[in-house]
Amino acid sequence: MTINILVTGGAGYIGSHTAKLLSSRGFVPIVYDNLTTGHQSSVRWGPLVHGDILDTDRLAGTMAEYEPKAVIHFAASAYVGESVENPSKYYRNNVIGTQSLLDACHRTNVGEIIFSSSCATYGVPPVLPITETTPQNPINPYGRTKLIAEQMLQDYAAAYGMRYVILRYFNACGADPDGDLGEWHDPETHLIPRALLTAAGRIPHLPVFGNDYDTQDGTCIRDYIHVSDLARAHVLALDYLVRGGDDLAVNLGTGRGSSIRQILETISRITERHVAIKLHSRRPGDPPALYADPTFAQQALRFSAEYSDLDTIVRTAAPFFGLEARV
Ligand code: UDP
Repeated sequence: MTINILVTGGAGYIGSHTAKLLSSRGFVPIVYDNLTTGHQSSVRWGPLVHGDILDTDRLAGTMAEYEPKAVIHFAASAYVGESVENPSKYYRNNVIGTQSLLDACHRTNVGEIIFSSSCATYGVPPVLPITETTPQNPINPYGRTKLIAEQMLQDYAAAYGMRYVILRYFNACGADPDGDLGEWHDPETHLIPRALLTAAGRIPHLPVFGNDYDTQDGTCIRDYIHVSDLARAHVLALDYLVRGGDDLAVNLGTGRGSSIRQILETISRITERHVAIKLHSRRPGDPPALYADPTFAQQALRFSAEYSDLDTIVRTAAPFFGLEARV
């Protein structure tokens, strides 16, 4: 018997890596995506339903047709800067879009949901590392829409008997080690792909947003987690829900913070290319340091990162930008 899993946003970066892994574990990923930021060519492990997350009837029809065991909900808008300039888009896609999905689930009795949330829901944490009980005080519209969607999911679960795992990602990066998939955003705003584009000579220099933070080398610290590790966490969360586990909210990070300078050094060493930088002032809304406490993910889901050392991240991502990686 095949088990279908509905993957909203499955043509996107993390969604496509997860769809590939689901397929290798015997599930059939049913990708539901409007292809505004996702790529049709990244949907290779199951059918693509071309639809919008705001279209509740189409979602419910898709669920009635495929009878998914669970939903993994990636479909969302995910640029912090854009969310400040265009909050309407973020409240619509991320909040109303999640409500549309949950209404379709309720209507068709699909009761198990894995939700993509973010460390952006924590804002500037009072202490590090960030645990699941760190207060959630987002500092930008993107983080607020993810927090509202988390709360909505909790309310729907309590009222309608749904069960969920909320996964709060830290900084997703890297690419499929088999080379089937990579990070492919337009515009690209994230540090590692932009630094690789600079190393490849496709952008003239990388802007570094601030070197006067109170960190070891003055640049911001983030917890970079490989997309294949994130994908595996979704499959573990699915196993957990299918076994009847209780509702959970889990941080997905490595527990290690890396500075921008460390990232650039790793890229230069592995690709043997210079990354030209230009120093800029701080980017508004950037917390100086963010990294997860990975203890609960290990306890609850038996998850620990395997691909998330900086060398492996850069080695897997570099070929996607036409760069050779030194072994
Ligand atoms: N960053 C940078 N130059 C860039 C892109 C990002 O200096 O071209 C910095 C950014 O200010 C932050 C870190 O790199 O301190 C990670 O940013 P990214 O956008 O990748 O992820 P975020 O942590 O904002 O989700």
